[in-house]
Amino acid sequence: MALSKAAMGAASRCQCDNLMKFYKKCYQNQNVCVTMYFGIKCRITCQGVKQMIEVKNLTKRYGKIKAVDDISFTVDTGEVLGFLGPNGAGKSTTMNIITGYISSSSGTVTVDGCEILAEPKKTKQKIGYLPEIPPLYVEMTVRKYLEFMFDIKRVKLPKKEHIDEVMHLVGLDNHGKRIIKNLSKGYRQRVGFAQALLGNPPVIILDEPTVGLDPKQIIEIRKLIKNLGRKHTVIFSSHVLSEISATCDRIIIIADGKIIADAKADELSSALSNERRLVVTAEGKASDIAAEIKKIPGVLKVKRNGASSDKATTFDVEYKPGADIRRDVFNAMARIGCPILEMKSGGESLEEMYLRLTENSKGGEE
Ligand code: ADP
Ligand code: MG
Repeated sequence: MALSKAAMGAASRCQCDNLMKFYKKCYQNQNVCVTMYFGIKCRITCQGVKQMIEVKNLTKRYGKIKAVDDISFTVDTGEVLGFLGPNGAGKSTTMNIITGYISSSSGTVTVDGCEILAEPKKTKQKIGYLPEIPPLYVEMTVRKYLEFMFDIKRVKLPKKEHIDEVMHLVGLDNHGKRIIKNLSKGYRQRVGFAQALLGNPPVIILDEPTVGLDPKQIIEIRKLIKNLGRKHTVIFSSHVLSEISATCDRIIIIADGKIIADAKADELSSALSNERRLVVTAEGKASDIAAEIKKIPGVLKVKRNGASSDKATTFDVEYKPGADIRRDVFNAMARIGCPILEMKSGGESLEEMYLRLTENSKGGEE
């Protein structure tokens, strides 16, 4: 094949373009690199990570209540996503919609390329779900129950081997003959886990799997979830921040049905940024100080903080991200003759930030 470099380049570009169009269509969600070997063969390399779950503009109304309010997010393959929020935030509702248990009022959910409403059966086969209250038949033995779930899920794997494998994975070896109602809550939860894992679905969704467990059981369940992340894409909900930050790659915080933060676990702190809050202690009439600070461009909220003395008052000043109001506060206080005794960034702990962000949510009725 004596072709000039230019001719080879042009031919390969042309075929590459067509192939790229084809592969772009097939792998819309993937970052695909196609390498052409001049019309002889092509190699496809996935450079990016495939998007496994896509939730788009999801809303769920119960009468006047908006349990989920126009939320959108994606989860990559192999990611362990923590879904964090106070009780009543909309976590279970979102999970129930993703898994096809309930329908949404509007919005779409796509799992591994299948839309739940368009292809419910196919989509559900891709998901293992452990609801808040595990769906157990407590009169059955562990093995009988798992065999029953294997059958109704129509799993096409060697039955005994697969159930053995799943029981081993969740630490239920030697528990096959135990009647479920006689098991401790931790072990029942493992049975719930096991049924979610039957059929090796690529996506595992766990709704508050650690509620009501003792600290040792919680640690075991966390380990299990971390291990799952190696082979599965996991969404795991909790209302406890430490629970989620110890286990997940990424964290979404939800309150009143809305997403209020979405960040990698180790970046959550900066995403929730304590640089948007200034704690100012100044001497003088509190109402004058507050009024003057409120006038500063970028200031969103001025709230009296408990730590005030006779003469001086401390304020929490919330301001727009990106603004730096320290000089303006200094000038404003100088203008009204109220000396600043202290001014510092509101260095909150992650836990404090979470509480602050969710304190005004209406949830918590449960
Ligand atoms: P979370 O799991 O975060 O605790 P939920 O998704 O269970 O929150 O609930 C979100 C909101 O939707 C709450 O205000 C709850 O009372 C309401 N809700 C949930 N399910 C129903 C239902 N079936 N009927 C009416 N309201 C509901
Ligand atoms: Mg819930």
